Amino acid sequence: MIAVTCEPLPLQARGGLEQLLHDAEAVLVLACSLGVSMVTDYTELPVLPALNTLFIGRESESGYFTEECAQCGDCVLADNAGICPIVHCAKGLFNGPCGGSVGGKCEVDPTLPCGWQMIYDRMIALGRLDDLMQVRPYKDWSKSLSGGARRMHIPVPLPPETTKEV
Ligand code: SF4
Ligand code: SF4
Repeated sequence: MIAVTCEPLPLQARGGLEQLLHDAEAVLVLACSLGVSMVTDYTELPVLPALNTLFIGRESESGYFTEECAQCGDCVLADNAGICPIVHCAKGLFNGPCGGSVGGKCEVDPTLPCGWQMIYDRMIALGRLDDLMQVRPYKDWSKSLSGGARRMHIPVPLPPETTKEV
């Protein structure tokens, strides 16, 4: 068993993995989809996901998960009191409610709270209701998934002891 699959495996662990997989016919990965993708780097065997990765969510009660983020690439949580309008509004509206909400529920699925009602209520609680009247810049959808796999580079500074003096 490999305990962690979402980081590159150290060389020593790769050797252990080769031994482990010597007589195997396939690898079953119980991590999220990233773990499945990473393990494919280390074996020619079929790598099978044991889980179906659905979304970034929270477990609000035991076994009950709710999506909180669709990884759009240009987060607007700061403008919306920490509540995502892409996820929590069934129509993904950015500039306020559609007008179909009844009793705080969404007209698309009345079992769900209206995301814009949630945002409105939370803005009142934070004393930020006026912020909802601000004209906001267009959301930058160029950072979304529509352009294929996204890439990001975060330069990591070297620890001082490994920095060479010139
Ligand atoms: S605005 Fe985008 S990044 Fe932020 S929570 Fe919503 S989907 Fe996720
Ligand atoms: S009722 Fe609320 S959550 Fe549903 S689509 Fe309209 S604004 Fe969005």
